[in-house]
Amino acid sequence: MRQTSGPADTPHSPALRAIPPGLHLVSTPIGSARDITLRALDVLAGADVLVAEDTRTLRHLMEIHGIPLSGRQVIAYHDHSGEGALQRLLGLLAEGKSLAYASEAGTPLISDPGFELARAVAAAGLPLSAAPGPCAAICALTLSGLPSDRFLFAGFAPSAQGARRTFLQDLAPVQATLILYESPKRLSALLAEMAATLGGARQAVVCRELTKRFEEVLRGTLDELCAEVDVRDIKGEIVVLVDRAAPAEASEESIGAALDTALKTMSVKDAATFVSQTLGVSRKIVYRIALDRSQE
Ligand code: SAM
Repeated sequence: MRQTSGPADTPHSPALRAIPPGLHLVSTPIGSARDITLRALDVLAGADVLVAEDTRTLRHLMEIHGIPLSGRQVIAYHDHSGEGALQRLLGLLAEGKSLAYASEAGTPLISDPGFELARAVAAAGLPLSAAPGPCAAICALTLSGLPSDRFLFAGFAPSAQGARRTFLQDLAPVQATLILYESPKRLSALLAEMAATLGGARQAVVCRELTKRFEEVLRGTLDELCAEVDVRDIKGEIVVLVDRAAPAEASEESIGAALDTALKTMSVKDAATFVSQTLGVSRKIVYRIALDRSQE
């Protein structure tokens, strides 16, 4: 996952502001190098120590944007680097150093390393901040045309067939747009398994090579996308999105039962919102039933 090469048109002039001590999670481009934010460049230009999943990728990105290393340390770190590597970074932070952490591309921690580090920093009460930016899941969601009010990012599906089937079965009833990452080699199999588990009539979207030259968005039902992908040699980086399950038929009785449970811990208003979202039923109807029940 390399950033598009080629120099930036305008060299970055780092803000003349010191980077405060602490760990700074830096999001980097998922394709187009110009998607880096000015604040990310400030952090990369000013941090005392640079830490990266892939030090070569980070050096290359800094080179594209004209940010000198100026003799600073560049440390390789991912979640399996081990306790010694983690303690070394925590030690630098405890000395009051500022550390910039970037994964290979996009937002650290999102199907990328950084979680163990960020969690340890937070647990130690050391300063933690983020320079937010590109993330393939969010970019794909905004392009998909699928509902964006509620979504569930599920990362990569397991590769073992049984685990994959269970994983998809668990996602089937979720009342939210589902977002998955997948390799182009397994795309066809994933779409076929999704059609079998979630139903071939569900609307889905495949986003490919976002922010890059061959960016493409395919929309259709799962069955239609299966057919299209089967006759094409799909390459590049892929995000798959699937529309939420059609709301289950809910009877007044089942709405009432769900409300009785919710009303034990929630206000009438919150219980109505919760049950309408969980059962996929109009909030107006649920609210009326909730009012009746709360007055009984
Ligand atoms: N941290 C990254 C983020 O914020 O999106 C994700 C890293 S994960 C190891 C890599 C996966 O993200 C790819 O296999 C693909 O599924 C997805 N991805 C990354 N860049 C992409 C792009 N430009 N277009 C489509 N999918 C992309």
